[in-house]
Amino acid sequence: MNRFIDTHSHIFDEKFDEDREQAVFRAKENGVDRLIIPSIDSSTHQKVLDCCSKWEGCYPAIGLHPTDVKANYLEELEIVKSYVDKYYEKLVAIGEIGLDLYWSDEFYAEQIEALNFQIELALKYNKPVIIHSRDAFENIEEQLHKYEGRGLKVISHGYSSDIDQYNRFEAMDCEFLYGIGGVVTFKKSLIPQFVEQIPLSKIVLETDCPYLSPTPNRGKRNESAFIPIIAQKIAEIKGVTIEEVAKITTNNVENFFNII
Ligand SMILES: [Zn+2]
Repeated sequence: MNRFIDTHSHIFDEKFDEDREQAVFRAKENGVDRLIIPSIDSSTHQKVLDCCSKWEGCYPAIGLHPTDVKANYLEELEIVKSYVDKYYEKLVAIGEIGLDLYWSDEFYAEQIEALNFQIELALKYNKPVIIHSRDAFENIEEQLHKYEGRGLKVISHGYSSDIDQYNRFEAMDCEFLYGIGGVVTFKKSLIPQFVEQIPLSKIVLETDCPYLSPTPNRGKRNESAFIPIIAQKIAEIKGVTIEEVAKITTNNVENFFNII
């Protein structure tokens, strides 16, 4: 059977309160036997760690999400730091972190500060970062330039920009991978065109569950078991087999996160 890794699962979310364990098992039944689980704020760090001690193949990441950067962000960042200092050996990444100008720019300056604080933390412990970017790719690029040449590894989660942005990222002295999820299956999406233009060696699979369920489940709760739907769509775009997509994307993740 193909083996897949979901690089972005919020399985701790309350939308899984009724059937969290079944969702993990359904994923495994579909070959998705490893999940990377990023937290978003102080109410979720411990939930992420609990999921990862409960189920084999679940790997934790800790971070403060940009839409959760509010007036109390300094306190939140201290909590992130305390978790990372304590659990860095277990963590596979710092995330999810980033910039989001879609929902609100009220705390934009604070988002920038939180992003930089958490990138420094990642570099201190030699961890990749999982970056969320919404309406903010150029802003992310501007921040990342400061870290060139320091061995920073970036997952651009839910990539939604174009090949020009990709080329600018690739020209930087940072290592990037691009998270492709359910949006690649949506009608009118520009992501298929993007996927066509980049090598499979730069792609990792993700659900971002419970959000962004792939077609034909669009609008319903997403879960890691749907990863093969995304892989199948990428296989069609690239003109390769789903086996090839499974093999290469899994290999990309193993090397990047050092979880072989
Ligand atoms: Zn997320």
